[in-house]
Amino acid sequence: MQFDNKSPGKDISEDDLKSKFPLASKKDPSHKTKFSVAGVEFGGKNIPVMAGPNMVESRDFILKTAEKIKSIGAHFLRGGAFKPLTFPYRSEKYYETREEGIGWLKEVKKEVGIPIITEVMEERFIDLVADTSDILQIGTRNMQNFPFLTACAKTMKPIMLKRHYGASLRDWLGAAEYILVEGNNKLILCERGVSVPHTHRSTSRFLIDLQVVPALQEISHLPIVVDPSHATFWRPWVSPMTLASIAAGADGIMLEVHPDPKNSAVDPLQPLDFQNFEELMSNMKKTANSIDRAI
Ligand code: PEP
Ligand code: MN
Repeated sequence: MQFDNKSPGKDISEDDLKSKFPLASKKDPSHKTKFSVAGVEFGGKNIPVMAGPNMVESRDFILKTAEKIKSIGAHFLRGGAFKPLTFPYRSEKYYETREEGIGWLKEVKKEVGIPIITEVMEERFIDLVADTSDILQIGTRNMQNFPFLTACAKTMKPIMLKRHYGASLRDWLGAAEYILVEGNNKLILCERGVSVPHTHRSTSRFLIDLQVVPALQEISHLPIVVDPSHATFWRPWVSPMTLASIAAGADGIMLEVHPDPKNSAVDPLQPLDFQNFEELMSNMKKTANSIDRAI
């Protein structure tokens, strides 16, 4: 169905598609961007899976985790060395590994042979992160940091732009346009949960906006990834919401997976363990196959 909102004052008007985000909008109903990163195609029939811990905790930890995650079938290793932690305090259990962590990811990439996606938070570290990471992850909290988006785009590296948890689709596509306008077309969008008053559980901060998947596919050609880990913040809900994301049409999945979830340095309530991940992979394949897609 064609997008036909002609009335001004609605969240996205027809004029917005032409004048506010002409590059992020579809040219015609079948327009879909496809590109490969490290041999993995985004925007096609296959659904790439990016999995790994919240944080790159140590060299040995990330090496062993990467091996296991690759053997289970993930296409990318995820994991932050630079972390946008909500509070400024750090401790022995709650820390960032920063430049050292990026160095470990570089070793893992070489030794394990798995592509990497990791977050970049500051302009001064873009070159360092871009040297190792196959995809630059821009986190929810930086979505509208426009000079930063421009600087990331200029590297011409593939970028995954996470939706700010309070952003409308209109604002998100506006941020995407800042990247596309630099001539960087290897852009992936990622839904990671929005903040609403009612999230069903006192420990869950966000509500996954599954409707945004078909909504985006109606108006934009960009691949859309869903991250049910950050969206639910709660391990038992990650698997069902992952399958629902695939059923909704997601072009990729990002998952937190940890060898010992309860002892994750950050957000211990949300990661899957290896066994959970393996079972989920098998169910993801079945769900993907049922809608003529593949993992
Ligand atoms: C992450 O993926 O580790 C992360 C911090 O995500 P978000 O920016 O969505 O909170
Ligand atoms: Mn996280």
